[in-house]
Amino acid sequence: MRLEDSYDLSKIRNITAEKVYRKMEKLIEERDDFCKCENCVLDIVAYTLNHVTPYYATSLIGSLDPKRRKERRIEVEIDIAIEEGIKRVKNHPHHEEYGKK
Ligand SMILES: [Zn+2]
Repeated sequence: MRLEDSYDLSKIRNITAEKVYRKMEKLIEERDDFCKCENCVLDIVAYTLNHVTPYYATSLIGSLDPKRRKERRIEVEIDIAIEEGIKRVKNHPHHEEYGKK
């Protein structure tokens, strides 16, 4: 039996990933100091996801206090990891052109 055939696993939300995506959207809009091609953005997102605490949840219901604190801590981790990811991808882009800019 495959779990995904019997249960709707899409109901499990990856809260950390959602936060990383929202943060990345903001940085793409607000900043101009990194390459925004698909390769670089996906590399930055993957790096960030590998360096922050995973946090999954199964429902949308309200932010209880401990949950809110946990989310806040993850947001701080994301801020740090995403900057590190941008730095690394800048130093080792997967394409030639970026270094010349
Ligand atoms: Zn790029």
